[in-house]
Amino acid sequence: MSLLVQKYGGTSVGTVERIEAVADKVAGFRAQGHDMVVVVSAMSGETNRLIALAKDIQQAPDPREMDVLVSTGEQVTIALLCMALKKRGCDARSYTGGQVRILTDDAHTKARIQEIDDANMRADLAAGRVVVVAGFQGVDEAGNITTLGRGGSDTTGVALAAALKADECQIYTDVDGVYTTDPRVVDKARRLEQITFEEMLEMASLGSKVLQIRAVEFAGKYNVPLRVLSSFADGPGTLITLDEEESTMEQPVVSGIAFNRDEAKITLAGIPDTPGIASKILAPVGKANVEVDVIVQNVGADNTTDLTFTVNRGDMNKTVDLLSNVVKEIGAREVTSDDAIAKVSIVGVGMRSHAGVASTMFTALAEEGINIQMITTSEIKISVIISEKYLELAVRTLHSAFGLDAEPAQA
Ligand code: ADP
Ligand code: ASP
Ligand code: MG
Repeated sequence: MSLLVQKYGGTSVGTVERIEAVADKVAGFRAQGHDMVVVVSAMSGETNRLIALAKDIQQAPDPREMDVLVSTGEQVTIALLCMALKKRGCDARSYTGGQVRILTDDAHTKARIQEIDDANMRADLAAGRVVVVAGFQGVDEAGNITTLGRGGSDTTGVALAAALKADECQIYTDVDGVYTTDPRVVDKARRLEQITFEEMLEMASLGSKVLQIRAVEFAGKYNVPLRVLSSFADGPGTLITLDEEESTMEQPVVSGIAFNRDEAKITLAGIPDTPGIASKILAPVGKANVEVDVIVQNVGADNTTDLTFTVNRGDMNKTVDLLSNVVKEIGAREVTSDDAIAKVSIVGVGMRSHAGVASTMFTALAEEGINIQMITTSEIKISVIISEKYLELAVRTLHSAFGLDAEPAQA
């Protein structure tokens, strides 16, 4: 008998029929004798609907009230799922994050979990009940409702699995595992049997939204066995493993391709080329809580230089406004911006032991006439910034170039 923590995402509980289907699945596992803790998201579209309501009132509403609002989506699904379980003769009890006592810090809308009280859950499990917990939410020391950031139910699932020392944390979603790239964009994408935590963390950080970044971090840190599966079809899914050796027999150089449309590029041109100038530009940006991603500085002619960097698209206008003063102060020529860009990244632990990966990447893009605007690399990834209109072509091209395409289906 094992203890399973299962998380069902928005599409998996998107209608009453879907909630009934999840109840069938959970009741089935319970009947086999597993101890079950189930984390659910809000019904699909609900969190977006709630955010839109708030924005109709105010562009930047109070973050505490925002959390009170958006946490309601998950409260609906926990109750409905418990009703559906009880209808099947399967005893169950629902908990909000605060009722479990998932204690977080007080960073509203992006809170971090600090501690989980497992007493209520343990008591229910001992009494043979299925425990159903609202994802994405917690409570701070003062009792305020907090939320964990978009996609945060994944993190609730992994954190509960860590706290309860579950045998496996299973993330049920609308795809049957982690793919070489987003299967909605590349139809030749392939499901991976396994992927290492390190690779999954890069994929998530670089834009693959199948798992929230913090969920992967948490699972790696606490060594939680983590699997991504479909709630719509049976199958083994994808196991996220700690061990590189175990991962695959013949380790491919590139395991996956991630992309992100949510960035914008800002360029300061004609900057005096003197020491300290980069910090004069980037310090006020950091102070305004704007995260800077890729940075490139060119050495120009006549003792001036250009500095280009990327930020989240939503921060572009604010950053340009803020820099127009800095431009005057430091005697630069101008600040320009472009939000029609995208970042495409190749990821793989196999890159550590292989040369020539970058040149394969750049050649493949050049053959399609795709111009690379910026490049950044680390040990197991290479990212390029390109024009957004070439994003899908670039992902498809790289997917083929690194031998990731699925075999054509048998006729
Ligand atoms: P849920 O509501 O279950 O949390 P999400 O929409 O957050 O589901 O995540 C699943 C989606 O992630 C898939 O429908 C898919 O389009 C997208 N996705 C992006 N990259 C990948 C990838 N590499 N493998 C699988 N799915 C991916
Ligand atoms: N409902 C939240 C969201 O849409 C959390 C989640 O689904 O993981 O972001
Ligand atoms: Mg998700």
